[in-house]
Amino acid sequence: MRAVRATGNTLLLDPESPEPAPATGEAVIRPLLVGLSAADLPGGVAGSWIAGRECAGVVESLHPAMPAAETARWKGRRVAVSPDVACGACDECRAGLATHCRGRVTIGTPQRDGCLAERTAVPLTCLHAVPDHVTDEQAVLAVPVAAAMHAARVALVHTGAFVTVLGDSLGAILVAQALRRTQPALRLLGSDPTRLAIAERLGIRHRPLHEAGRRRDQALVVECTGTPAGLATALHLLRPRGRLVLTSPTSGDLAPAVRDEIDIACARSAPIHEALAALARGDIDTTGLITRRVRLDAAVPAIAAVPLEMKVVVQVS
Ligand SMILES: [Zn+2]
Repeated sequence: MRAVRATGNTLLLDPESPEPAPATGEAVIRPLLVGLSAADLPGGVAGSWIAGRECAGVVESLHPAMPAAETARWKGRRVAVSPDVACGACDECRAGLATHCRGRVTIGTPQRDGCLAERTAVPLTCLHAVPDHVTDEQAVLAVPVAAAMHAARVALVHTGAFVTVLGDSLGAILVAQALRRTQPALRLLGSDPTRLAIAERLGIRHRPLHEAGRRRDQALVVECTGTPAGLATALHLLRPRGRLVLTSPTSGDLAPAVRDEIDIACARSAPIHEALAALARGDIDTTGLITRRVRLDAAVPAIAAVPLEMKVVVQVS
């Protein structure tokens, strides 16, 4: 079968990748759409693995030892895949915090093959049935939607406060959508006119970053750029004792945060079933967020375009 394989700093389309062999408790799925993210960019890590972390697909088969009822429940179902495989046994898993499992393995990394392949084996615990009226194009965005909803959940400021979402990435636009129901004074600050036009079409209040001013009057800033400059800007925008939510790894000078007693919270990821439910309810509008769609044969060069596009999706089958 065909698969996109990462080896160190190289990605290539392997036309003869071995078929997946599901272990006990696993299913073989046929990916339909796979969303590319910065995590798919090769980073020089040792090993060889199939890339691809964000996937909507169809369950093709289950391990032969699976109970018949489970097989009947899943076979042929449309699913979204959670990229984090939790152990289910550690203290964090038992406490309901599987996203912080101490033995967590992530698919599409050297730890475990991902979804940029014609077939892949995934633990049943990672599969979430896609509601009938949620499209494949919506379901493939379940991972970033779940992350955005989690960022909105940790925001914790009173309704009506001045709120800024910093950045014009897919994540920033999803965070703005997740927050705006409770935060009517929300604005998104970005730099790319094309991306701001997408925000405009989705009804998100926005301004170019250079026009924002720095009055230190924001009660909440959700920092979605993941850059030291973004962190510095966020700390210039926040009022004393304001709240800063970080959504991606970053570095920078935290001295202003100490001076102003900024309350810092972090949000990384969340279970995707909540995202699928929100998409089914229409709470999050994903119209226009997929800006490029390619076939599996063109996935390798498309991965290089990930930083330039709102969202690149690979149509696998
Ligand atoms: Zn665990």
